[in-house]
Amino acid sequence: MIKRFLILFSIVCLCLGCSISSQLVLDDLTPRQIVRVAVLDDVKEFSLKVKGPFSVLDFSKNLVLIEDEGLVASIVRAKDTDIQIGNNYYDAYHLRITPYYDASIYVNGLRFRGRVDIVLNKDDLLTVVNVISLEKYIKGVLYREISDRWPLEAIKAQAVAARTYAVYIKERSKDQSYDLRSDIYSQVYGGKNAERYRTNLAVDRTKGLILKYNGMVLPAYYHATCAGKTEDAKLLWDHDIAPLRGVTCNFCKKSPHYFWKRNVQLKDIQDKLNENGYDLWLIEEIQVVDRNESGRINILKIVTRDNKEIIISGKDFRQIIGPNLIKSNNYVVDMQGYYVDFLGKGWGHGVGLCQWGANFMARDSYRFDKILGYYYPGAKMVEYK
Ligand SMILES: [Zn+2]
Repeated sequence: MIKRFLILFSIVCLCLGCSISSQLVLDDLTPRQIVRVAVLDDVKEFSLKVKGPFSVLDFSKNLVLIEDEGLVASIVRAKDTDIQIGNNYYDAYHLRITPYYDASIYVNGLRFRGRVDIVLNKDDLLTVVNVISLEKYIKGVLYREISDRWPLEAIKAQAVAARTYAVYIKERSKDQSYDLRSDIYSQVYGGKNAERYRTNLAVDRTKGLILKYNGMVLPAYYHATCAGKTEDAKLLWDHDIAPLRGVTCNFCKKSPHYFWKRNVQLKDIQDKLNENGYDLWLIEEIQVVDRNESGRINILKIVTRDNKEIIISGKDFRQIIGPNLIKSNNYVVDMQGYYVDFLGKGWGHGVGLCQWGANFMARDSYRFDKILGYYYPGAKMVEYK
């Protein structure tokens, strides 16, 4: 069956005046224009489906193991140092699935462009990596990060920020099996399913553009709403550079995330802190000890009923309790007996581009380059080739 298909496939290719290899996705791109995104990490099994012709390559030997006309949804798992795909067993620790023509690959039901690598790790766990062009990766990120109904200039600004951030991370991951993850720790990546017409248009119209500062790719952080002032990156991470020192932002005042309120049980806070290495019992009070210039909390003090005092940074507290529960690090604390109210402003870490600010700047007719210049002062836009 496979042989018959290959003969037919070769005839079709000859008729079209091309070779199979020229049909392989990504072949006209340089390694710089490709990113590797981990869509699943350390899983025991997952479902793989390929609609259309594809090949399976043993990546370490650069050897094509099979070519076939399609794959029905099949379970992939590790089996005695082999990788098992449906009823086939492959003696390899790194397989590459390459679609031909318009064939598409589905991992756990989600459609991905480009190639998919299956890497066998220790303890029979698998990592699934989507190997894709940088531009298509950004298309899979944008709709997950902002609305496709926003003004195009705001989406374009976000496209350049997301591309810049991806390149920044990629340059630091050369020795690893992937560059980026598909969750909030990198950028939220949804594959082909997450693409929309206007977000794709914004990527195409800013094709290849990234931000640099002093010749270096900018770590172009971004967040949902700064609520008045963006944060100085050096207070959170090791970046003391002019474009990330923080700016005043009066553009996000109408953001739905400008104000927020959360009511949390003290017992839940106690449990989460104890799960993260603290040792406390019956919280009496949470006090803000110190704020920085932007109003965000540097230091919190937690006092228990037996008068134990714990000092914790605002950054760590938010991370432990949950960054989507405590939406920003800018809040006041209102004790309510066994509960506590957090009355806050903004959403996200606050560094770099303020997405809701960019949205309202674009509504005020600012172009995407002006928006980027506002949130990353001093950064230069260049073409990444
Ligand atoms: Zn803002």
